[in-house]
Amino acid sequence: MPTKYVVVLGSLMSGLGKGVVTASILRILNFYDYNAIPIKFDGYLNFDCGTMNPYQHGEVFVLDDKSEVDMDFGIYERFLGKSLTGDLSITGGKLFGTIISKERHGGYLGETVQIIPHLTDQIIKNVESIADVKKPDVIVIEVGGTVGDIENSYFIEAMRQLSLKHEVVFINLTYLPTLDVVGEQKTKPAQIGFRLLLQDGIRSNFIICRTVSTLLEGTKEKLALFANLGKDRIIDDQDQPTIYNLPLHFMELGFDKLLIRELGLRHSAPNAVKMRLWKNNVKRVVSPRGEVNIALVGKYTNLKDSYASVKESIIHAASKNDVKPNITWVESSDFEGPNKDYSMFKKIDGIIVTGGFGNRGTEGMINIIEHARKNKIPYLGLCLGMQLMAVEYARNVAGLSGANSAEFDPNAKNKIIVLLDSQKQITDKGGTMRLGAQECLLVDKNSIAHAAYKADLISERHRHRYEFNNEYADILKKKGLKITGVTKDRKLVEFIEWSSGFGIGTQSHPELKSRFEAPAPLFLSFIAAANKNHAKG
Ligand code: GLN
Repeated sequence: MPTKYVVVLGSLMSGLGKGVVTASILRILNFYDYNAIPIKFDGYLNFDCGTMNPYQHGEVFVLDDKSEVDMDFGIYERFLGKSLTGDLSITGGKLFGTIISKERHGGYLGETVQIIPHLTDQIIKNVESIADVKKPDVIVIEVGGTVGDIENSYFIEAMRQLSLKHEVVFINLTYLPTLDVVGEQKTKPAQIGFRLLLQDGIRSNFIICRTVSTLLEGTKEKLALFANLGKDRIIDDQDQPTIYNLPLHFMELGFDKLLIRELGLRHSAPNAVKMRLWKNNVKRVVSPRGEVNIALVGKYTNLKDSYASVKESIIHAASKNDVKPNITWVESSDFEGPNKDYSMFKKIDGIIVTGGFGNRGTEGMINIIEHARKNKIPYLGLCLGMQLMAVEYARNVAGLSGANSAEFDPNAKNKIIVLLDSQKQITDKGGTMRLGAQECLLVDKNSIAHAAYKADLISERHRHRYEFNNEYADILKKKGLKITGVTKDRKLVEFIEWSSGFGIGTQSHPELKSRFEAPAPLFLSFIAAANKNHAKG
């Protein structure tokens, strides 16, 4: 059976949750046992988002194959429960790079190279070759940006052309504001979005309406009439108790059956076992028995998207522990300077220090780690959070004055964290860190790490340039710091732990592999420890 396509386009404004809608569609198709995979289009001219500031673009997500991709891939993987590959991320930068290099190599001799047909043909070629190689039943394509942007206009044109060759269902996600004074859902902006797509030659098969409350029958009728669609094709996307409920919500509305029919797929029943497991998980997120208070310490906390995977990993692990996580975002730079007030940590059951780059806020992180260690608050350090855990230990337990990471103080007296050997010759910035899935040996059977993973050899994703300086291993070990995980060649430290209480740091990013149905082992252990701490009161 040839691969079919669903194309998700957003109109009016960004931030409507297009990634969650796309992931929900993928999940629904998976409930029906169809092999559905995503493709994401991003119009920016960066090759990938690895060189962007998380403040602007949200977190950089890393796949097993070392690709640095848009954070939407995190949503897809968390919903689908499977690992994806970098070829599914198609950016303006990659496309223009291909076209220009092809032109220089004589690939278009005699021709004037243009957006249409050369760039659009290249997009279609990329999409079709993914279909040829992976042979999925359905590819769900999320077009980044908003209809009407210059950045994604060539992707939209390519999708129009794709629909001339293949079975394509177009979905328009739009926004329906409610005016407080009259309580009326206004359809005019949605109509304009629909019309913009018509101008591009695309007639949406479904309109998904993002609203804060239930989509009213009258609103549906009005929009259906305007768009010349059946009323059942105007789909409600109101606020959910959890994003993981959206696939179930869509199915309650009958969107699954209509979509499957529209795609010309065999109409069967969803897989009962998969549905039951998902529903039980959703129930545990929505109405857990207990609660736990987690402080998430970082330097980009003003934009919560910078730590999307960490936040979701906490939610996954908390639901398995049957607790509701109350997350307090802590800007680390607030804990620098003379007037530090740690009283907010009195009600905190567990502290996470996240990954990051650059000096700003690192001294505050070190102070918070010291507070966690001295007050026996369960601690999880992720990447930078592990590096600073080592620095804190060196300074305050081993008495190594001026201990720091060479990233923040290249002239530090005691450089506990140094540049990876493999990084020393590298000057290019894009895609050059130690990236992707890396194996790690858990060398201590009596460790937090081993208890969490219940395995000797594990694999986690990475994204860093610096590492623990082995010259300090013996002295820190003598002072009680445990090294519980190392790379397979035993050259790099991957996990460190305090010898008492729950304190663990990892050079990896376990949050990048946490799935709604399979939480990251380390987060499960951390939340369990925090929960125990909560019970102590
Ligand atoms: N900046 C540190 C490094 O490059 C930590 C990176 C991270 O936290 N992802 O090693």
